[in-house]
Amino acid sequence: MPRSSKSKIKKTSPPPPGYDKIAPTIFKYKQKLKSATTNTSTTPNTTSTAPGTKPTSLWPIYKITHDVTRYVHDLYARSKISDELYTWLTLQDYVDASLISKWNKRGYEKLCCTQCINAGGAGRGGGTCICRVPKVELLKRGQDDKVDVECVTCGCRGCASSD
Ligand SMILES: [Zn+2]
Ligand SMILES: [Zn+2]
Repeated sequence: MPRSSKSKIKKTSPPPPGYDKIAPTIFKYKQKLKSATTNTSTTPNTTSTAPGTKPTSLWPIYKITHDVTRYVHDLYARSKISDELYTWLTLQDYVDASLISKWNKRGYEKLCCTQCINAGGAGRGGGTCICRVPKVELLKRGQDDKVDVECVTCGCRGCASSD
């Protein structure tokens, strides 16, 4: 994807032209993210995990980050936003630029979150998360029971490109 390198956009730059068109949507995502963050950030000193508390409290954050990043990525892919605006958006905290760079790679077009491909991540002793394994592959291996798996990191139910 050709991208102009002439722009010297910084994170703190004022929003480039065109931002006002997408601002309401971005704002909605930001609000969602904000409430998800406040809902999930428990006091660090609380050692006792309340019974019934799922270790999945970060899912909403991953989900929203994924959604807003996908939104920005799609806008750019459909040439709805300028290079300038796109660059500016990827510098903002609510957009996961590393996720976008993965989506641009073959086989990672549907990647749910970068945690799922980080070695040592996902609390599974490293390696790639099961959600990255194509469903057909799981079936082939006779792991039918795993086909309906839910990723512990982000709640993804499968993000292999062939799914
Ligand atoms: Zn996934
Ligand atoms: Zn994930």
